[in-house]
This record gives sequence, structure tokens and C-alpha cells, in this order.
Amino acid sequence: MCGIVAYVGPRDAQPILLDALGRLEYRGYDSAGLAILNGKGVEVRKKSGRIEELAKACRAKPVEGKSGISHTRWATHGAPTDTNAHPHLDASGKLALVHNGVIENYLELKQHLTKAGHKFSSDTDTEILAHLVGESFEHSKEKGEKCLIDAVRKALQKVQGTLGIAVLHADLPGLVVGARRGSPLVIGVGNGENFLASDTQALAPYTDRVVILQDQEIVALYADHFDVASPLGQKAVHVEKIENGVASSDKGSHPHFMLKEIFEQPETVRNAFRGRLDLEESSTKLGGLNLSLDQLREYERIFVIGCGTALHAGMVGKYLIETLAKIPVDTQHASEFRYSDSPVHPKTLFFAVSQSGETADTLGALREAKRRGFRCLGICNNVSSTIARESDGGVYMHAGPEIGVAATKSFTSQVVIFTLLAILLGRLHSLSAADSRRLIEALQQLPDHLHALLKRSDEVRKIAAKFASARSMLFLGRLANFPIALEGALKMKEVTYVHAEGYPAAELKHGVIALVDKDTPTVLVATHDGVYDKNLSNLQEVKARGGPILAVAHEGDQKIGGLADAVFSVPKTHELIQPILNVIPLQLFSYHTAVALNRDVDKPRNLAKSVTVE
Ligand code: GLU
Repeated sequence: MCGIVAYVGPRDAQPILLDALGRLEYRGYDSAGLAILNGKGVEVRKKSGRIEELAKACRAKPVEGKSGISHTRWATHGAPTDTNAHPHLDASGKLALVHNGVIENYLELKQHLTKAGHKFSSDTDTEILAHLVGESFEHSKEKGEKCLIDAVRKALQKVQGTLGIAVLHADLPGLVVGARRGSPLVIGVGNGENFLASDTQALAPYTDRVVILQDQEIVALYADHFDVASPLGQKAVHVEKIENGVASSDKGSHPHFMLKEIFEQPETVRNAFRGRLDLEESSTKLGGLNLSLDQLREYERIFVIGCGTALHAGMVGKYLIETLAKIPVDTQHASEFRYSDSPVHPKTLFFAVSQSGETADTLGALREAKRRGFRCLGICNNVSSTIARESDGGVYMHAGPEIGVAATKSFTSQVVIFTLLAILLGRLHSLSAADSRRLIEALQQLPDHLHALLKRSDEVRKIAAKFASARSMLFLGRLANFPIALEGALKMKEVTYVHAEGYPAAELKHGVIALVDKDTPTVLVATHDGVYDKNLSNLQEVKARGGPILAVAHEGDQKIGGLADAVFSVPKTHELIQPILNVIPLQLFSYHTAVALNRDVDKPRNLAKSVTVE
């Protein structure tokens, strides 16, 4: 993970690099740095901490020059210190390199280079790559621009792992070389200036024309042109327009992106089903699947792969599809699927779920599913992402950029998409038009229900203030509300650092109940459904052991009101749509607890938004 930005052109590089890097901070934010060619050589500034720390260092001592590379880091190898921050220099001190990814064979390469007399100043895997490229360049006869491109190519042949890199050399002003294997990299095409960045958002104020670099490609970037080479040789490229605007980085009247994004859900949920309801057929339309209804009917199994929140959405999807279409659904952590050899039914349709569309494990799993001959569809938010491009079709969330590191609106959009899919598959099998219509009506009412629910944010804030001193929490739910409990626990961990676990409510007595005491609140998702009475028994079990109980319950539920220490009230809707409402108070609960604990809500420690390393 991490963000890369490079610039070559007539303007001062420093302000452009710092500004564009700021828009990539969600990708990693433990340290940052830049290297600029200042006319005499490579000048480097790097700082641990946020990009603002780097900006301060640069304001105190500006670096002047027209081409540069920069990086915001999410450490994999070596602590987030000034020294380990990128860029890293080669042995000559003339070549600087930034890297997104992991060099898997770095130890072996390091031993080899150390024997040859190389000295290293950091603990990173990246510095090895800088030395490898530098060594190869120093061995070239002419030391011209082509030699730097060749040196990058040769060095990459020696490394295993994932990477997106940008390189510059003091003797070659006006040239930045970029390369991609696994990690994303895009070229921003300007007028008399060009850019490189990890994603298109970074470049939004500078250009709306981009070229998405493909895997294994190398680009030589100059101010007035750029050359892209694939392993097969020079390549003609396709310049496209960016869709996402700059508006993304505006928090509006909200103090944090997370809260803004929670409050956007009436709109983002509507965007997820807009134009996709087929009222005449009491069904849904998902044209992006690129499958005719007859083809879709042929699939006997569904397999959902994802990580974190996206996998939780897939787990709700499993429940919906199995209930409405009676098609068995497997869900698996993408990181597990990609390396397992588990047998998969030949008539299986895969779904890879990822907000960013760049999640390395999900991408790896998608490639593995495709390698094994399966059709694989994507559910993504970012339309220009690698997963969106590499899948055989899919459904976009249209949720707008999600900046808060803890996913909120993308989760509800993903669940809406799974609902649409479950209705479509259901109608192809045994779901009646009348049952389908009830679901569609409930979907249409969702934005209004969400509006009403969000008005209760202050009630949730008061409950959060009361329980913010807890160091551990349990989240319980059954059936489709089990993944909601998992998601509630994940949000709590991510933004508050409070230990939290999600479990199916009945699992309580198989071990977890040992954790219950007066300082460990249990959050039970207990809206009225077929397992309501079972949930009430679990609530009693916790109460009998002196544990505080917070319950997500329907407005006016007196029974729960009389038993729980605090209630998150939610409006009642169709039982299968209810999980989308039930997750909202849990998102707000973790948000308000994080604020009460003075946490960095939008950029929690150790995390990054888009996990582009394994
Ligand atoms: N593996 C490199 C490091 O730890 C790059 C990590 C990143 O992508 O930020 O420095």
C-alpha cells in the first residue's frame, strides 16, 4: 500500500508533489518523503508521521526543481522512521526511488549486494531495489536515458513481489521512469507536463486525462511526452478521461470524513439501486454482469471473495441469495482462497468485492479464480480500478469516493447490490413476483428510513460517551445479522482500538461468555425476526452474568427496552433489508466512541484505506 506521485514539467515540483500526495494519504500515512532534482543533484526530504510533517520540513527548507518523485508510506519492512521513509538512494547517491509494494526476496538480494560492498542505511526492502537499479545503471556504458530504463527493467527481473515504482537520476534531469507489477500506477497527461500517481484522484486538479499503466509495463516520463513499453516492446497507449472529480476531498460541514460518509448513505444506497429495478417484471436489471438471463440461470453455485468489510457484505449476500434463490453460496477471505486448493463446483460464478478495486488479496484471488477457468465478476466503487478492469463484468457501487479509512457507505452499497443480485437470481428460480415486489418496495423506502435513523446520531453519541471506557466489547447477531455483528466489531477495533469480537449469538455459550463481566458491554443485534426469542435468551444469559447490554432493536420494542442498558432504535423494514438499517447505529457507535476517546477517526493508527500489498 502507499501512494506515489511524480512530476516532470516546467513548474516547481515541490508544491505539486505535496498537494497530490495529500490526496493519496488515505493509502498510507506513517511517513512521507520526496526527492527533487535541484540542478546540482538529488535533494531529499523525508519525515516520519503525516504528510503535514513533510510539508513543514519542506516549508522550512524548500527544494527547488522541476522534476521529482514522492511517496506516502505504509510500512511493511522497517519501522515508520525518517530513515525508512522513501525515497531511497542507490550507492552513488545520484539515483532516487519510491516503491509501493513488497520485495519478497529482499533478504537474499541484500546478502548478495552486501558481499559486493553495498552499504544500506534503512531496514526497508525498497532500498535494495534502489541499489539494484543503481548498480545496473552504473554498469551501463553510456549512462543515457535509455540506460536508466534498461537498468529498471534488469533490476525488476531480479526481484520477486509486487511493485509500483518511480525513479529519477541526477544526471538525467527531465526524466522519471515508472514501472508497475501488481501495484497500481497511472500516468497523468498534462500540457507540457506529465505526472505519475498511484491513483487518478491524486491528479484531479491537474489533469483529467490519464493512461492506466498495465502490469509489467515501464514508462519513461518527460515533460512533453511519455513512452510506455510492455515486455513485448514499445506500446501505443489509450488516453482516457477521469470520472471522479476533486469534490471528494471536501468534508462539508462534518468534522470527519467517516461521519460525512455515514450521513451520505441515504444517497449512496439510492445510487446503488437507481436504474436497476425492473418494476414490470418485479425483478432487477444488472446489465454489467455481461450475462444473459439464460446464462445466469445455468450457475448452480456462487462464490464470494473479499477482505474485511467487503467480505462481511458478501456474508450478508450469502444469506440473501440462499434465502431468495436457493443457490448455495460460499464466502471466503480472498487471501485464503488464492492459496488454497479447495475444490470448487464447476458451475460456480465468482464475485470479487472491493471498494477500491485495488485490494491486492482480492485481485490475487480473482486472478486465481480466472486461472482455474471460472467467470469472475467484480463489485467495486472505483471504476478505473484493476479489479474492475480484470473481471468479466460486474456491478459498480456509484457511492462516490470513500476517504475515511473505516469503510461505511461502501458496505451498505455492497449489501444493496447483493440484494439486487439475490432478487434477480431468485426471480430466475422460485421467488414469486409478490415476494419480490415487497423487497423492491423496502429497497425504495430505504433512503427515507436511513434519513430518519441518522437523526438519532446524537442518541448514539450519548450511549457511546457512557461506554467509552470499556476496553473490550462483544458484538452478537444471528443469520444475516451475524455479519452485521462482525462489521460492528470491526468498525469498533479500527477506529477506537478497543478490543471487539463479533460472533453468532448462539456461539456465546461455547466459549465467549467467559469474557462477560461488568466492564465488557455486549452489543446484540436483536430486531424482530424469526430468531428474536433466541436472541432474547442470549441477552438474559449476558445479563445473568452482570454484563452491560446494548441492543439494536426496533423502535418501541418494550421487551428489549426493559432488559437492555441502552437501546439503538431502528425503524422496521422487510426482514431481509433490515441488516442495512441495523449496521447504521453500529457505525455511529464506533465513530462517536472514537471521538470520545480522541482517536484519529479518519486515519486510525497502523491502517491504510486501500490494501495494495499482500
Ligand atoms: N515495502 C516498502 C516499505 O516498507 C513499501 C511499503 C509501501 O508500499 O508503502 O517501505
